[in-house]
Amino acid sequence: MQCKKCGQCCLNTEMMLSEEDIKRLESLGYPREEFAVEKRGFIFLRNINGHCFFLDPKTMKCKVYDYRPTGCKFYPIIYSIREKRCVVDEDCPMSHTVTKEDIKKHCKEIENFVERLIKEAELRRHLT
Ligand code: SF4
Repeated sequence: MQCKKCGQCCLNTEMMLSEEDIKRLESLGYPREEFAVEKRGFIFLRNINGHCFFLDPKTMKCKVYDYRPTGCKFYPIIYSIREKRCVVDEDCPMSHTVTKEDIKKHCKEIENFVERLIKEAELRRHLT
């Protein structure tokens, strides 16, 4: 797929984070409570003024691109819980460049990642 680095996917983000994502971002010196919010056991990237905590609104560039969350690496391929399959998010202006091969190549990893997010959320709900 092609990405035109427009930053559209960083606006009003609903991207979920795994514990591994959180630890990687914390290792850069960002405290978890600053960039993450918990809802029903799941951890999401925090939005500040309508955009991801890590987006520089002046340049529309990600401040932690090399360390970005796993879900951001796969985007615009996402997992639809409702359809129970990998789909392409049409909100991305380059979604038309994602091929069936791209989806096939990444879907298993995405499914495994979603399973991990669900397990981690269940664990958090148990612990609280
Ligand atoms: S919305 Fe699509 S084209 Fe724009 S930065 Fe995100 S992935 Fe790239």
